[in-house]
Amino acid sequence: MRLESGAGLRASATDEAYAAVGAEITDAAGALGCDLVLKVRSPSADELTRMKPGAALVGMLDPFNREGLTALAAAKLTSFALEAAPRTTRAQSMDVLSSQANIAGYKAVIMAADRYQKFFPMLMTAAGTVKAARVVILGVGVAGLQAIATAKRLGAVIEASDVRPSVKEQIESLGGKFIDVPYETAEEKEAAEGVGGYARPMPPSWLARQQVEVAKRVAQADIVISTALIPGRAAPTLITAEMVKAMKAGSVIVDIAAGRGPNGGGNCPLTVAGQTVQVHGVSIIGETNLPALLAADASALYARNVLDFLKLVLAKDAAALNVPMDDDIVAACLMTRDGQVTRS
Ligand code: NAD
Repeated sequence: MRLESGAGLRASATDEAYAAVGAEITDAAGALGCDLVLKVRSPSADELTRMKPGAALVGMLDPFNREGLTALAAAKLTSFALEAAPRTTRAQSMDVLSSQANIAGYKAVIMAADRYQKFFPMLMTAAGTVKAARVVILGVGVAGLQAIATAKRLGAVIEASDVRPSVKEQIESLGGKFIDVPYETAEEKEAAEGVGGYARPMPPSWLARQQVEVAKRVAQADIVISTALIPGRAAPTLITAEMVKAMKAGSVIVDIAAGRGPNGGGNCPLTVAGQTVQVHGVSIIGETNLPALLAADASALYARNVLDFLKLVLAKDAAALNVPMDDDIVAACLMTRDGQVTRS
């Protein structure tokens, strides 16, 4: 077992700690030359040249990036993208989207609270009463639910919007209020039900009504956390430039979809990926890798996801790789094999 020297340092895991459990500490080329390579992101073009044809690769390999997958196939790798695991109970412990989105939702609220110049909780002090912060959450998947729970722990008043009707109960169970936008046609209802638990693009008629309801809440909000994503497509625009203009000075938007919306923005077109910008006195935080800011837990949870996946593809003595295609998780995660892109 080889480790690239320093690979864990930014998550506070030292080479010594890995060596103590039996890892051989080597350079990047040494680690990339193994039969099974575990990574966080896809290898770069340069890294690919150092990998062995026939080797296996497990990581977050961006399943919707066809060009990236073609490069992995050309390098003759058997590769598995953990983001493609089905959202089923059995796959839960290997679900990298969930483990990392949970962190992103938490950290987004912590960053908002840090930037915001007022308290989150309502306080009655001798020097006067402080109102609770009003927080609006847009998109209530894993990140959104954790954002609600975190903002609630800090004492905020929360409203949240999603296209999927099933989230209403989840929002309410965490102490938030659902921004209800009833469906008016069968087409709207069907789109809202999504596929495999994921959202599909909603018809413009529903989006227009949602925008009216969301705009009212955003105008009164102190904090907006947006997390709305649609797999394989640009993230939807939910906070327009006009909505930002109507917000109070000092409000904070954390756009978790930063870099994934149209033209490199996020759920807000004014978001700048990787930066915090001020527009009309409103701070828009466009951090693109929130889990990396909680690196130790992000790494520990990711490691557990990878380890549980390896149990499906490694023989008991870890001597050989199996690819049981009758296992729905393995079949879904397999991206390339024998020089071909196998992802449908
Ligand atoms: P995601 O990151 O793909 O998207 C975030 C949220 O944005 C989703 O809730 C989506 O509905 C919402 N969204 C999309 N367009 C929107 C719009 N126009 N307005 C408002 N909201 C919008 O979602 P996710 O966190 O990966 O979760 C996706 C689904 O998978 C959820 O149903 C979640 O409960 C489910 N899930 C299941 C399991 C499991 O069963 N093992 C594990 C994790 C997640």
